Amino acid sequence: MFKIDTSAPVMVTGATGFVAGWLVKSLLEAGVTVHAPVRDPANLAKLKYLEAIAEKSPGDLKYFKADLLDDGSYAEAIKGCAIVWHTASPFTTNVKDPQKELVDPAQLGTRNVLEEANRTPSIQRVVLTSSCAAIYGDNADVAKAPGGVLTEDIWNTTSSLTHQAYSFSKTVAEKEAWKIADAQSRWDLVVVNPSLVVGPGVNPHATSESFSLVKQFGDGTLKSGAPRIGFGAVDVRDLAQAHIAAGFTVDAEGRHIISGHETNLLEMAMTLLEKYGDDYPIPRKAMPKWLIWLVGPVVNKTLTRKVVSLNVDVPWRADNSKGIRALGMHYRPLAESMTDMFQQMIDNGYFKKR
Ligand code: NAP
Repeated sequence: MFKIDTSAPVMVTGATGFVAGWLVKSLLEAGVTVHAPVRDPANLAKLKYLEAIAEKSPGDLKYFKADLLDDGSYAEAIKGCAIVWHTASPFTTNVKDPQKELVDPAQLGTRNVLEEANRTPSIQRVVLTSSCAAIYGDNADVAKAPGGVLTEDIWNTTSSLTHQAYSFSKTVAEKEAWKIADAQSRWDLVVVNPSLVVGPGVNPHATSESFSLVKQFGDGTLKSGAPRIGFGAVDVRDLAQAHIAAGFTVDAEGRHIISGHETNLLEMAMTLLEKYGDDYPIPRKAMPKWLIWLVGPVVNKTLTRKVVSLNVDVPWRADNSKGIRALGMHYRPLAESMTDMFQQMIDNGYFKKR
């Protein structure tokens, strides 16, 4: 369907991140030279995982110093590259100032990287890691979608700085990318819109919110029950394949929902019960919506009453057929992704056995 071209270097922003780790690994193993602009090239604790992969791979890994909020800082890293994968963007819900901590790096960072692509004649394609969060804001939006199913034609219109700010940041960032791409014709933009990403990290201590979420299944936070919040889920290794295909499939175009499973938080946790239920406080039952509505905002400031009303006990559905058709996606079972991620957390001292 596509051939990995090793003749020119490529740039991957956010290479230290959970999502990009497996993408960089696949590229290096295929023999591609990867330019990795990172915030701190001296942070060996963060880079050692990629380093270990690079040592054993035919591809070369080169670090550069860059920051999404530092205009022009990607100029060195992008030089001579054919493809950019722009994955860097903060994925966290624990913020004090959503404009500064989420929207600026997402939107201004996308502008910074894509304007550098405009100034770089060798660039042929930019692959943007957007999110299903740029398609919907709350699960209640899913019910309002035609046929109750999200598609690539839909945009998130319900998130804002004060409600689902991360989803808002991803929406404005993807819009920014399309605006810049549509104003020129030398390179094309291909967008990957993953649902919640799970599975083991190349770096077992990734900062991604995916880790904070799954950690709660083993650290006792949800021992009395998990909210049945509908989610889509995709394995990080399958998502790397989507990124590779989006970069090298000549006629790839537009947005792609990359999601293997329609699930919910409780169901995700319960995939772990058989193997880990005796030793760790995995949630076994649903936490009632009225209870979450009552105590949610007290224990977690992002779990506002509005978020609870619009998401708990509301299912999530999306049409993933374009990714299967156009990018050749295959999805591994959810239980495999959850088990591999949880086992990695155990091996890295995330939880105490009970
Ligand atoms: P992550 O592990 O926290 O990675 C975020 C990456 O962005 C890190 O490499 C980080 O670099 C970089 N970054 C953040 N702020 C930066 C800045 N100001 N300048 C330069 N780099 C910066 O999170 P992730 O889950 O892998 O997320 C990666 C991408 O996937 C994001 O675009 C996210 O929206 C998207 N996504 C994630 C999920 C999911 O469930 N995980 C789902 C859909 C989409 P440092 O190492 O320097 O911090």
